Amino acid sequence: MPNAKGYAAATAKAPLAPYSFERRELREQDVAIDIKFCGICHSDIHQARDEWGGSIFPMVPGHEVAGVVTAVGSKVTKFKVGDKAGIGCMVDSCRKCEQCKEGLEQYCAVGAVWTYNAKDKDGVPTMGGYSDKIVADESFVLRMPDNLPLDASAPLLCAGITLYSPLKHWNAGPGKKVAIVGLGGLGHMGVKLAHALGAEVTVLSQSLRKQADGERLGADHFYATSDPETFKKLERNFDLIINTVSGDMDWNQYLSLLKVDGSMVVVGAPEKPNEVASFALILGRRSLAGSAIGGIEETQEMLDFCGKHNVTSDIELIPIQKVNEAYERVLKSDVRYRFVIDMASLNAN
Ligand code: NAP
Ligand code: ZN
Ligand code: ZN
Repeated sequence: MPNAKGYAAATAKAPLAPYSFERRELREQDVAIDIKFCGICHSDIHQARDEWGGSIFPMVPGHEVAGVVTAVGSKVTKFKVGDKAGIGCMVDSCRKCEQCKEGLEQYCAVGAVWTYNAKDKDGVPTMGGYSDKIVADESFVLRMPDNLPLDASAPLLCAGITLYSPLKHWNAGPGKKVAIVGLGGLGHMGVKLAHALGAEVTVLSQSLRKQADGERLGADHFYATSDPETFKKLERNFDLIINTVSGDMDWNQYLSLLKVDGSMVVVGAPEKPNEVASFALILGRRSLAGSAIGGIEETQEMLDFCGKHNVTSDIELIPIQKVNEAYERVLKSDVRYRFVIDMASLNAN
């Protein structure tokens, strides 16, 4: 019996439309959450349009889920009714493999159970946060900072952790020159977080259109990658480049901007593979790496860090009826800097 409502893509070609479905009964360790806000991540679009292959339809996207706890199972210890709570990209994992034991559930050997477009341990397709409620095991539910607004903190659950994790892993901090490529949802969180960590931050954007915003967000420098001079000027300049770009681009050009021993970490996930010239790496002992979100413990650490440093996302709040329009605007890089769905709008359907 459907007990939840939301918006779903029926096929890869279909726009999102109202959809009713069933959330599971509360189990001993489950938390039921009334969803108040859900961010729109570019990954929602990639998956709703089956750009990575293997999408499961119908699909209710959404993995930046923020809300309030409405019920808890008998064995729940972390949450009580009325608490603010969040869910990011994962709702479960094997919990036994080497990675899970280390708190790197996103790299679970068996495969993490993603918040949507996946199957849970019972083989039931998971449904994401573009909906009125969600039920998940408390081990995968996050505590949202009390001092931050819930709407602007929803995007921390994917965009925030996806940048925080590599910034920490590659030691961004005082004395380090960090470049963020692409000033979108992920990129703008990268600027805020790298700045809060004390690094010298440069934005590499396609044009200078977003320069004033970039500087307001905490960037020390801002360059347009459409200007060939940029690549000459910044040769061998950075310790770390985090590449958030969702579309096709030439990575080799960006590798040339790394100092000796510098690293470029790819977090953007375009559909097509990229060609890398060996000399772009060899001549500078450079590294090319990738990174996926962050583990649950690190996600909580990031949320607490954001609470302490007053870091939230710059958002445009929209009713769910505008979700398809918002997708088009994300594709045009026309978002400042994350769309967040106000779930109260579901009642208007
Ligand atoms: P977004 O808001 O659309 O931002 C992407 C930005 O990249 C755009 O704002 C634009 O910035 C730049 N860009 C887009 N197309 C470009 C092109 N062809 N060449 C150069 N620059 C381009 O998307 P997002 O939500 O931040 O997500 C970015 C990517 O990360 C997506 O592929 C998403 O699936 C992926 N992702 C990965 C993870 C992970 O765990 N690794 C997590 C979440 C998302 P400018 O206007 O400044 O140029
Ligand atoms: Zn995401
Ligand atoms: Zn595992």
